Amino acid sequence: MEETDIEHYEAFKANKVIPQVLEAEILRALSFYPSLVPVKIRFVFKQRIKGSVMQAQPLITTMFGTAREYRINISALFRLTHTAIPIRQVPSDILIGWIGHELGHIMDYEQRNLWGMLRFGAGYLFSSSFVKNAERVADTFAVNHGLGNYILKTKYFILDHAALPEKYKQKIARLYLSPDDIVAQVRALEAQGNPSGLARHE
Ligand SMILES: [Zn+2]
Repeated sequence: MEETDIEHYEAFKANKVIPQVLEAEILRALSFYPSLVPVKIRFVFKQRIKGSVMQAQPLITTMFGTAREYRINISALFRLTHTAIPIRQVPSDILIGWIGHELGHIMDYEQRNLWGMLRFGAGYLFSSSFVKNAERVADTFAVNHGLGNYILKTKYFILDHAALPEKYKQKIARLYLSPDDIVAQVRALEAQGNPSGLARHE
């Protein structure tokens, strides 16, 4: 990273709690979402997240006030079929795509009032079509904010990674936007003359 990049990213530390080991990736993902600067988000390592690698959620105690806070849980270990590697050994671009997707969920949450959040929680628990839609919304936020290339790399990484549990790959294929869908969205953005469909910091 260049000097100017580090200065540029400094602004994105506001209202965030960021673990040192993933600081570069998290700040880069945050830099695509300037509107999240005033939003409080804690990035927290967890030993285990059931069926997921990362997870974005509101802090329940802040749901009833005006300043909602969020937490993005990050699994400390990236589990493969027979082994697990520390999450920081996953390539940077893949992590940026992953974090960018979670931030897309927070963009979605930010548009919802308390009632909308409660409905979201119930829908996510009980309806797979609701989950599918929520995941598409998160991916779409990420693509529209210029993270298209990262999201794509993350998808391919998951779908092509032979050592990932088959069940997890099936879940991703079933519920999330496919790489083809993402390419189509990026192309559509470009056709509108919006170059942010492709990574604009490159
Ligand atoms: Zn998601």
